[in-house]
Amino acid sequence: MDSKTLFTGVFGFPVGHSMSPLMHNTAFAALELNYTYGAFEVEKGALKKAVEGIRALGFRGVNVTIPHKVEVMDYLDEIDEEARQIGAVNTIVNENGTLIGYNTDGQGYVRSLTEEWNTPLKGKKVVILGAGGAARGVAVSLAKSGVAEIIVANRSFDKAHELATHLSQWVGSRGVALEHLDQTKPLDADLLINTTSVGMSPHVAHIPISPAVLHDQLMVSDLIYNPLYTELLTQAQQAGARVHNGLGMFIHQGALAFERWTGQAAPVSLMKEAVLQFLQKS
Ligand code: NAP
Repeated sequence: MDSKTLFTGVFGFPVGHSMSPLMHNTAFAALELNYTYGAFEVEKGALKKAVEGIRALGFRGVNVTIPHKVEVMDYLDEIDEEARQIGAVNTIVNENGTLIGYNTDGQGYVRSLTEEWNTPLKGKKVVILGAGGAARGVAVSLAKSGVAEIIVANRSFDKAHELATHLSQWVGSRGVALEHLDQTKPLDADLLINTTSVGMSPHVAHIPISPAVLHDQLMVSDLIYNPLYTELLTQAQQAGARVHNGLGMFIHQGALAFERWTGQAAPVSLMKEAVLQFLQKS
């Protein structure tokens, strides 16, 4: 590092286990860019000061993660349209002291899905399990991508209804309580997406929906990447469905942030390889 090094990083709490430093520093090194990326543990009441620090210290930008993605919007100068539609910011770019907020989660998801599924999203029937922060990003980007319908099924009905109502400005959408979704027969959908945390390590045997809904015409996508193949994806493969895990979304949301900071195309394969190697070792 020298006086010309450009600083980036992630603000979150906790962030000790974040793989973003590994992913971004691998990419900066590969492209010989004089940037560095660190993990900054920012406690709840400290976010405003941390954001002021981006300007004061001349950081090029940061990612923002749990629990700060919504609150951070109050401290920025400008917010990109899609971040406003999602209602959360995960990437800040410092343009000569003006802090601009973006959300790369939804587009990162769509990029990863289209890359791995290789099927046009137009006209597809989608069921999303969950209505939390990750669901919002994924659902808004999908809603704008030409899919035919999005059903949001969530444990708490109110959140499913609220998200589906929001999506209705772009696509036909309705919310249901997860317990009222018919789990006794094959799902009438093209794409099933798990955005809940059910099945995430260490609770790897848990599954968010009955395997009875799975069938061989379905693409089953899970935002979780630890483990790489959740019980849902394992059962989906056994039912003959295509599967898509959360690693690609993580890589592509990072790649989109990288491109905003550096103006260069991200070395996506190298970033994925670095994260994959780390996950397989841990
Ligand atoms: P969040 O805002 O806390 O939302 C959690 C969601 O899971 C809610 O819909 C919640 O339902 C549901 N849920 C939690 N426990 C449940 C249970 N036992 N049964 C049924 N539903 C349950 O979390 P988030 O930020 O959206 O993250 C969700 C998942 O996405 C996590 O596994 C995270 O690792 C993953 N993720 C992946 C990426 C990526 O890059 N691949 C990015 C972001 C997040 P209620 O509303 O009823 O509580």
